[in-house]
Amino acid sequence: MALNLVMLGPPGAGKGTQAERFAREHGIPKVSTGDILREAVHSGSELGRAVKTVMERGELVGDELIIGIVRERLTRPDAMAGFVLDGFPRTAAQAKALDEITATRGPVICVEIQVPDEELVRRVRGRRVCDDCGANADAFGHKADELPELCQNTERCRSIGPKWVARSDDSESVVRERLKIYWRDTRPMIEYYSARPTFRVIDGLQSPEQVREALVAAVASALGMPASQLRTLVAKKLGAQA
Ligand code: ADP
Repeated sequence: MALNLVMLGPPGAGKGTQAERFAREHGIPKVSTGDILREAVHSGSELGRAVKTVMERGELVGDELIIGIVRERLTRPDAMAGFVLDGFPRTAAQAKALDEITATRGPVICVEIQVPDEELVRRVRGRRVCDDCGANADAFGHKADELPELCQNTERCRSIGPKWVARSDDSESVVRERLKIYWRDTRPMIEYYSARPTFRVIDGLQSPEQVREALVAAVASALGMPASQLRTLVAKKLGAQA
C-alpha cells in the first residue's frame, strides 16, 4: 500500500513546512505546486512567464495547466510508493482530477490544518523564503527575525550571500486576496473530502512539533495502523519495486 497524503488548509497554515518534514521522514517526495510554479518563475521558463502575473495577484493559475503538471509529477517512479501533496488540489476540478490520477493507487489521506484568518495574515506577513532555492525559513526552525545569515539548504545557498526575502505574494493585500479565494474556491472543495473515512482535521495553532506529531497520528489513524508502522509501509513498497 502506498502512502498518499494531501495537505489541505489556507495559506500560512504550515502545510509546506509539515509536508517537507513528513516527506523526508517517510522517504516519499513532497510535491508542492507553489514551489514548482515559483521555480518556473525564477528560471524564467515559458511556464514561469505564463503564471507570474497571476501568482503575484494571489489568484489561481488555470486548472488545466496545474492538473497537467501534477499528473506528470505523480506518474514519475519516485511517487509510486506515495507522495505528500502541498497546494493541490485547490478547486473542485483539481480534486476530481486527483481522484482519477490516484484511482488505482490505494487510499488518499487528506489532512486539513485549521488556523484562524488573523493568525494567517500575521504569519504570512512575517514569512521569509530563500530567494535562491525557495526554501521556507520555517522549515529550518527559524522565525523571520532570527534567521541565520545564509540559507543552509543547498551547497549553493551556503556559499553565496544572504538570500532571505519576502515572497512577492505575501504582502498584506495579496494575502487577504488569497484568503478570499481560499474561502470561496478551496474550502468548499474540502467539504468534498470531509465525508471520506480517510479525512482528518488538525489544529494548526499548536507548535510546529505538536502539529508534526498530530499529523503522523492522523495519517496512522486514517490507515488504521500504529504510527510506528508508517515507515515500514513505505520501506516495504520501495523494496518491492527494487
Ligand atoms: P500558499 O502559501 O497560498 O499556500 P502556494 O505556495 O501553495 O501558496 O501557492 C502560491 C501561488 O501559486 C498561489 O497563490 C497560486 O497563484 C499558485 N498555485 C499554487 N498551487 C495552485 C493550484 N493547485 N491551483 C492554482 N494555482 C496554484
